[in-house]
Amino acid sequence: MGKATGFIEYVREEERKRKPLSRLDDWKEYTSPFSDDTLARQGARCMDCGTPFCHMGMEWNGLTSGCPIHNVIPEWNDLVYRGRWKEALDRLLKTNNFPEFTGRVCPAPCEGSCTVALSDQAVAIKGIERAIIDKGFAEGWIQPRIPKKRTGKKVAIVGSGPAGLACADQLNQAGHSVTVYERADRIGGLLMYGIPNMKLEKEIVERRVRLLAEEGVTFVTNTEVGNHITAEALRAQYDAVVLCTGAQKQRDLAIEGRELDGVHLAMDYLTSVTKSLLDSHFMDENFIDAKDKHVIVIGGGDTGADCVATALRQQCKSVVQFGKHPALPKNRTENNPWPQFPLIFTLDYAYEEAKAKFGEDPRQYCIQTKKMVGDGKVKALHTIQMEKTENGTFREIPGTEKVWPCDLVFIAIGFEGPEQSLFAQFGVVNQPMTTTKYATNVEGVFVAGDARRGQSLVVWAIREGREAAQEVHHFLMNAVK
Ligand SMILES: Cc1cc2nc3c(=O)[nH]c(=O)nc-3n(C[C@H](O)[C@H](O)[C@H](O)COP(=O)(O)OP(=O)(O)OC[C@H]3O[C@@H](n4cnc5c(N)ncnc54)[C@H](O)[C@@H]3O)c2cc1C
Ligand code: SF4
Repeated sequence: MGKATGFIEYVREEERKRKPLSRLDDWKEYTSPFSDDTLARQGARCMDCGTPFCHMGMEWNGLTSGCPIHNVIPEWNDLVYRGRWKEALDRLLKTNNFPEFTGRVCPAPCEGSCTVALSDQAVAIKGIERAIIDKGFAEGWIQPRIPKKRTGKKVAIVGSGPAGLACADQLNQAGHSVTVYERADRIGGLLMYGIPNMKLEKEIVERRVRLLAEEGVTFVTNTEVGNHITAEALRAQYDAVVLCTGAQKQRDLAIEGRELDGVHLAMDYLTSVTKSLLDSHFMDENFIDAKDKHVIVIGGGDTGADCVATALRQQCKSVVQFGKHPALPKNRTENNPWPQFPLIFTLDYAYEEAKAKFGEDPRQYCIQTKKMVGDGKVKALHTIQMEKTENGTFREIPGTEKVWPCDLVFIAIGFEGPEQSLFAQFGVVNQPMTTTKYATNVEGVFVAGDARRGQSLVVWAIREGREAAQEVHHFLMNAVK
């Protein structure tokens, strides 16, 4: 343990954030890391608990508690406090293939479970994680690890999101020859086209992909398995196939006016903007543009927040976000005790920016869109306020109808799960979350990540990729478990 009295002496400090208004002028990351001095103090706050709840990684009532990949957090907190960075990096990489992603975008269930959070603010685990890996790259400690021996076994991974990449990394390091197929033009799944650049700069993703390629992983882009190459052909060429195709089937809103111009699914918006940014820095004009538009985002979740932040950077005239649920409470409720993930009100980056620009939080709560109106182009949304009944359902409040003028609408009401057609072509009956097994009913075909568990988090995708790789390895080597 670093400093026995560290948690008493030092307060939690947050990662440095650029000023909300100035960060709207570009698409660069909005956070920057702690200084080394700050990190030593933050590491010193860790109590090296006998039972480190931060590291357990369980689900309670559908909420994640602790780190799903069981990062050995107290160990690297202590090493950072002592300035032993390289050892901290070694410990971190034992459990996490891609800390540069989770250190930036993870909602940090580890911090929600930190014991210090019982009476004070949690240890700044996520910021410490990011600092360790960033230093690892900056110091040149991260070098390609090329496997010394090859097993002669070939594995195809379909989908290059964090699950596919983690699975590829593990299997490649075990000596198998791995090819990752991706239907998009760039590798990374939602790390590339989903999570916006200001949360995770795409050079960070590309740096990791280059490293994996140098280590021996083969990447094939613009290739949709099931279309450009059939399931049968893939099975014939490879000893095992892992489906890491995500759960990107978007939920739509079947209401009057949905067909109007200016109404888009959130992912079409976010993808078009990131692709154009990367392809031409918007010179190709091939993106949905919110400039000078009144924007409404339907859906109160994180994808909706990313739409808000994107529209702000495009200089929208106004932005509002509709959510179905009431605002979260300021403190934990009795039903959401420590060490569960805290369901409390926070001001995410997008809302902080909207408040700085327009003077108010863009979120509207308990609101339902009844119809969209316009003359070919969307002009307004008609809504009504909702309230929660005693049995947990929602009912409309008569007399609360309202008309919201707008020019652009993004639908961000979640995802329906994985696309089923590829599973059907493989003959796979997907069993999301019903077992801890990644093997499917078809021998040699495995499934992992959001494709197995539904839309989740990057950290869960990494865990699934790692665990699936272990199963595939046993299958290939015919080992007894
Ligand atoms: C807008 C948005 C923001 C998010 N922000 C965060 C965040 O801040 N923090 C966080 O932890 N999580 C976040 N998430 C969730 C997180 O990104 C996902 O849980 C995670 O990426 C899932 O990883 P995956 O590898 O299972 O699938 P994905 O990342 O979805 O990757 C699947 C890949 O498979 C490819 N594919 C599908 N079918 C085929 C096929 N037939 N042939 C070839 N390729 C195919 C797809 O093109 C895609 O690239 C966000 C999600 C969204 C939508
Ligand atoms: S729960 Fe918090 S204080 Fe305890 S070991 Fe983990 S990070 Fe340190």
